[in-house]
Amino acid sequence: MEGSFALPYGDLKGSGSKAWQEACGLFGFYGPGQPVARLTYYGLFALQHRGQESAGIAVADGQSIRVEKGMGWVAEVFNRESLESLQGHIAVGHTRYAPKEENIPMNTQPLVFRYLHNRMMAIAHNGRLLNSTQLRQELGRSGVIFQTTTDSELIANFIARHNQRPLGEALLACQKVLKGGYSLLVMTERELAAMRDPFGFRPLCLGRIGQGWVLASESCALDTVGAEFWRDVEPGEVVVIGHKGPSFMKGEICRRAHCAFEYIYFARPDSILDGESVIWVRRRSGQELAREYRPEADLVLPVPDSGIAAAAGYAEEAGLPFIEGLMKNRYVGRTFIQPSQDMRDLSVRLKLNPIASIVKNKRVILVDDSLVRGTTSRNLVSMLRQAGVKEVHLLLASPPVKYPCPYGINTGDPQELIAARLSPEEIREYVGADSLYYLSLEGLGRAFHRLSPGDLCTACFDGRYPAS
Ligand code: SF4
Repeated sequence: MEGSFALPYGDLKGSGSKAWQEACGLFGFYGPGQPVARLTYYGLFALQHRGQESAGIAVADGQSIRVEKGMGWVAEVFNRESLESLQGHIAVGHTRYAPKEENIPMNTQPLVFRYLHNRMMAIAHNGRLLNSTQLRQELGRSGVIFQTTTDSELIANFIARHNQRPLGEALLACQKVLKGGYSLLVMTERELAAMRDPFGFRPLCLGRIGQGWVLASESCALDTVGAEFWRDVEPGEVVVIGHKGPSFMKGEICRRAHCAFEYIYFARPDSILDGESVIWVRRRSGQELAREYRPEADLVLPVPDSGIAAAAGYAEEAGLPFIEGLMKNRYVGRTFIQPSQDMRDLSVRLKLNPIASIVKNKRVILVDDSLVRGTTSRNLVSMLRQAGVKEVHLLLASPPVKYPCPYGINTGDPQELIAARLSPEEIREYVGADSLYYLSLEGLGRAFHRLSPGDLCTACFDGRYPAS
């Protein structure tokens, strides 16, 4: 994904700056006799791309819950001592992205609460509630005091209100008042539970490791800890794991609306979400792109890393050479840069450098996964021209992003979505490319082989919001 420089410490996956941010990664582990804190730590490493502002792990031992968390990347937050202090057989882990104004230590997750009879609960979630303002006011009027600005705290309050009921029933009762996109992990002293919103906007899957059970935002985290993929948590479903194993409860059923952007950009390519392989969706998007638009060119150049799979698919379909002619610096760390306009331009150069001997005097098809603000693409095109490229055709493996996301992806100011303001021809002019082409919504739909277009949320492309 291209975009202006919004992240103060480099991009784990994309071409440079990420204009859009994923809202969090979840990892839960029920594993008597297993090193749950350590395996959760490894699971969070696999989900680092979903959030880099803070990380945390809470562990339950049957009697109480202990938590270690802090600001920063997983590797910065934990050390040998903190992991060894987390003794128990159930764990919930979280990596968090948050908008700048909400990026405060109090909001780091998992959140741990005490409620009736000194019982404890840890909660972590991925997504965003549409009705959080209303729910906050409702709770506030009844005297509830908040310590954070998170939706997780709101949800914990509603769970605590159903404290006479088993955890699974309490979660289903909460589902009736929560609107929006969320996947949720809740841990008590003895149980681990998960819930997915009725549309399934944000991903969540279940795996098996020995006699233990794992819940994770993406299947790549199951692979990392050696867990076997069991199945995806269904939209609206509640899973409760205790000493007898998991039990499943069906919640409200709406139409499926899995986030298309998870496949286009957010999720790791080695993940399989709701039965659909991320890397193959990206590759087929490139193939569809080649069927829709094929300018005369000498080679296909991916924008690393987010455009690689689509560029490979494009090159294969078009019968053109696929050459990695943009060198990515993978060591741009977290001590990086302040997000000013000058630094935005510099950030692209720090991260990507064209290899002149590959692109000089060539007609190049530059493939990226998406275009949100246009700044990075403009810089890339300019750098390629300086390196002597003859023509640059910028091809995007997704449709124009015109609408903000209310379901847990931070899309920033809607005014900054360039396709909401400018036509494709105006955008081409702005980025300085010889031609520019977006994959059609129909083409994107064809890139999915297991999910139909009706199973996806594509609201940021077409403005059709599945839930309001
Ligand atoms: S609006 Fe876009 S980013 Fe948000 S859930 Fe839908 S497809 Fe994903």
